[in-house]
Amino acid sequence: MLKGIAASSGITIAKAYKLETPEIIIEKKEGCDPAAEYARFEAALEQSKQDIQHIKEAATGRLSDEELAIFDAHLMVAEDPAMASEVKMMCENEKVNCDYALDKVAGNYIAMFESLDDEYMRERAADIRDVTTRIKYHILGVKIADLSLIDEESIVVAHDLTPSDTAQLNKKYTKGFATEVGGRTSHSAIMARSLEIPAIVGIEHVMSEVKHGDTLILDAIKGELLINPDEATIAEYQKKAEAYREEVEALKVLKDAKSCTTDGHKVLLVANIGTPNDVEGVIANGAEGVGLYRTEFLYMNAQALPTEEEQYQAYKKVLEAMNPKPVVVRTLDIGGDKKLPYLPIDPEMNPFLGYRAIRLCLDRKDIFRTQLRALIRASAYGKLEIMFPMIATLGEFREAKKVFEEEKAKLVAEGVKIGEDIEVGMMVEIPAAAVLADQFAKEADFFSIGTNDLIQYSMAADRMSEKVSYLYQPFNPSILKLIKMTIDGAHKEGKWCGMCGEMAGEPDAISVLMGLGLDEFSMSATSVLRARKVANSVCYEEMKKLADKALQCCTAEEVLDLIHATVK
Ligand code: PEP
Ligand code: MG
Repeated sequence: MLKGIAASSGITIAKAYKLETPEIIIEKKEGCDPAAEYARFEAALEQSKQDIQHIKEAATGRLSDEELAIFDAHLMVAEDPAMASEVKMMCENEKVNCDYALDKVAGNYIAMFESLDDEYMRERAADIRDVTTRIKYHILGVKIADLSLIDEESIVVAHDLTPSDTAQLNKKYTKGFATEVGGRTSHSAIMARSLEIPAIVGIEHVMSEVKHGDTLILDAIKGELLINPDEATIAEYQKKAEAYREEVEALKVLKDAKSCTTDGHKVLLVANIGTPNDVEGVIANGAEGVGLYRTEFLYMNAQALPTEEEQYQAYKKVLEAMNPKPVVVRTLDIGGDKKLPYLPIDPEMNPFLGYRAIRLCLDRKDIFRTQLRALIRASAYGKLEIMFPMIATLGEFREAKKVFEEEKAKLVAEGVKIGEDIEVGMMVEIPAAAVLADQFAKEADFFSIGTNDLIQYSMAADRMSEKVSYLYQPFNPSILKLIKMTIDGAHKEGKWCGMCGEMAGEPDAISVLMGLGLDEFSMSATSVLRARKVANSVCYEEMKKLADKALQCCTAEEVLDLIHATVK
C-alpha cells in the first residue's frame, strides 16, 4: 500500500493505466541542411498547435474557462516568435538538427523559469516543457499518449499529469488518478476536484511500484493506494465504495433542508469558491450562499492585473447566480505563498508575515480601488458582502473601509446603480484581531474567522511545512478560546460571526463551533451536506455545554475525546 495526499474525495477500484512518458534521446547531428531542418521544425510546431487546439476544443464544456485558459498559455508558448527564431538561428549558424536546437533553446527557457523562486513562474516552466516536448515528439515521430483514447475503466497512474493530460481524461472510463508529484493545490488536484474524479497526488515511487494493468484500489478519502489486493480486500473496498456512494446519495435529501438544530437554532452553511464556475457546485450541494470567494485566482490566472471590467463581469456572474443568497467576497489576498508574475514582491525572510493581503492593498491603492469599484458595481446584482483579509489593527480596517466608502460615493455620484446595503466585514486570522474583536465589532459589520492562518500564527507553525504540521491543531483549547473571543465580540455589538478556514467543514468541529455560537460555516461545497447532517442532529443547548467543557480542557486530544463522547 502506498500513501499520498487525497486531493479529490472518493473510492474507486480499477486497472492501472500507466502513462509512460516516452524517453527520447536527442543526439546532436552536424552538417545538416538548415532549410530542411527548419521546415521539419515548422511542420512539428504546426502539428503541435493543432493538437493543443483540439485538446482545448475537446475539453470545452468539461473544464472551466479558467482551466481552459491554460491551453491559451500553451498556444502562446507555441506561437512565441522568439523561441522559433532562436531555433532557426541555431539551425543556420551551427548547421545542427532541429530537435537538438529546440532542446537547447527550450532547455534554456525552462532552466531560467525554474530557477526563479516563485511557484507561478515554475509552473510556466512546466508549460514550456509540456509544449516543447510535444514538438520534439512530432519531430522524431514518437507516438504521443492520448488519454482520451482510454476505453475501459481505469485508474491513470503517472509521474505527473500535465494540464493537457488532465483535460483529455474521459470521466466515463477514468475512474481516478494517482500521481507521484503534486500537492492539494497543484493543477492536477484542482482539475480532479472540478471533474469530480477521485485522486491521490504526491505518492512517492508510484511509477516504479505499479505496473500497467495492475488492479488498484484508490482510497482518496484516506489517501491510500492498494496494489493487486486479494479478493477479500477488493470485496471490502467494494462495500466501502458503495457505502460512500450511498452516503453521498443519501445526503442529497438534505439539499433543500434548513440547517437547524433539534431545538430550533439556525445556522448558515455556505461554501468557499475560487472562480465563478464553482457556483454550480455550490448550488448543486445545497449551500445557502458563498462564505468566501477567494478573488486572488482571478489575478493568478491572468497575464496582467485584471481590469475593472473583467473583475466586474466575474463578480456579477457569481452574485447573479446566487441571488438572493449572500456572497462574501474577500478582497485580494496576494503574497505569502500566492504570487503574481506581473507584480514582483521583494524577497522576504518570512513571506507569511510580510507584505501581503490588505497590507499590499493599502500600499497599492490603485489595485485596491479597481477591485472595490468592480465589486460595488456588481453589488446591484445580488447580496454582496465584502471582507478584508489579514486585518491586524483597527487603523488598517478603518483605512480600508474609507477607501471603500470613497469609491462607493464616486460611483453613486456617477449615477451607477449599486446594491442597497453592502456589508463590510473582515477576516479574523491574526490573533491580535481575535483578542481585540470587541473593539473591531463596533466598526465591522461581520467577522469571518480564517482558521488556516489563525492557527499558523497562534501556534507559530508554518502551514506549508510538513515537519510542523502536527501543530495544526484546530481543537487546541487556545484556538477555541480565540474563536470564542471573536464570536462573543461580534455578538456583543449585534454582529454576526462566520468561519471560512478548513476547520468550519470538519464534522468533528461543527458541534463545538455551534456551541460557541458561530453563525455561519463556510466550507468546500462538497462538505455542506455532511455538515448539515451534523447540524440537524445536535441540540444547541447541549452543544453550548459541550463548548463550555471544551474551553476547560488542556489539550486538543482532550477536546476531541470530549466531542466523540458527546456527539455520536
Ligand atoms: C484562512 O486563512 O483560514 C483562509 C480562509 O484564508 P486562506 O486559506 O485563503 O489564507
Ligand atoms: Mg488566510
